[in-house]
Amino acid sequence: MAFNNTFNDKKRIFIKHKICRFCADSSLKIDYKDSKNLVVFTTERGKIIPRRISGNCAKHQRILALAIKRARNIALLPFTTAKIRMKEYREF
Ligand SMILES: [Zn+2]
Repeated sequence: MAFNNTFNDKKRIFIKHKICRFCADSSLKIDYKDSKNLVVFTTERGKIIPRRISGNCAKHQRILALAIKRARNIALLPFTTAKIRMKEYREF
């Protein structure tokens, strides 16, 4: 039982409160035209990283998602990657 208690205490230390980087630094702006900064918030497959992982607040995640979708529409960011498309093609 003593072991379990110490394990729980350790687990608590590792949980850190994530801070929204856009709230922390007001100079950072979400723009659909700068794809370099938006790529950070997408996975390898091109999916938008959820805010529970990225640590963004709801307000900034909403703006970010919209910016990523706009960037996809003007071909600055991918909807999906070519490798995955090839895999899907082979399956059919
Ligand atoms: Zn924020």
